[in-house]
Amino acid sequence: MAVTAVVAVISGIVGLCVGSFLNVVIHRVPLRQSVVRPRSHCPQCDTQIDDRDNIPLVSWILLRGRCRSCHARIPVRYPLVELASAALFVAAAVRLGASWDLPAFCVFFASLLTVSVIDLDHFIIPNRVIYPTLVVLGPLLVLAAALDGRWRPLIDAGLGGAAAFVALFLVHFISPRGMGFGDVRLAGVIGVMLGWLGLRYVPLGLFLAFLIASVVGVGLIITRIRSRKDAVPFGPFMACGAVVAVLWGHAILHLYLGSRV
Ligand SMILES: [Zn+2]
Repeated sequence: MAVTAVVAVISGIVGLCVGSFLNVVIHRVPLRQSVVRPRSHCPQCDTQIDDRDNIPLVSWILLRGRCRSCHARIPVRYPLVELASAALFVAAAVRLGASWDLPAFCVFFASLLTVSVIDLDHFIIPNRVIYPTLVVLGPLLVLAAALDGRWRPLIDAGLGGAAAFVALFLVHFISPRGMGFGDVRLAGVIGVMLGWLGLRYVPLGLFLAFLIASVVGVGLIITRIRSRKDAVPFGPFMACGAVVAVLWGHAILHLYLGSRV
């Protein structure tokens, strides 16, 4: 318990810093800019941002959401993404404890957050996020399997990734306008991580994605925020479904399948 608390605190701090980098990715990747260079600068006055003004969350609060040199507003989205990243890392730490697969799930959650915000903004799920995610997750999972001496989760991760990819590819094939190919690739990544937890988590995560999407979709139409014809990106719903499946999937499956889990 004490160990989990320490791991959760460390994860939260790492999550804040990662969130700061995710802001850069969210801003630059859709513009096809490098995420490494140049250093962050104010979009309004172009002044390079000092290290002291680049502390996640803290700087935004100290500067009261304004640029130090030109006082232009810094959108509240920046600290919110950092907070969301920290919250997801803490949630992963509480769910998994001090385990070898915790880093992989933190990377997974960070990637889901990034993809969701980009998809909401631009209606795309960039390969420049999905492929690096897979390149990082692969070795992390192999390492976790080796350190645990259990290879079954790794096999299930492969099977889960393939199954989710094929399932959403079929949806894309039937309705290419409703489901983009970016969604299909994202489903592959989600299938890998949910498969690692157990194959039954894969259909659960995808089911939750469609369930949340229909509930929110109906809500948006009833409240007239969106009409039936407006496109709504599906990536954020898949991300939500995956996060819920990771964090509460065990409880949901237990409720649904009873003692068989
Ligand atoms: Zn400025």
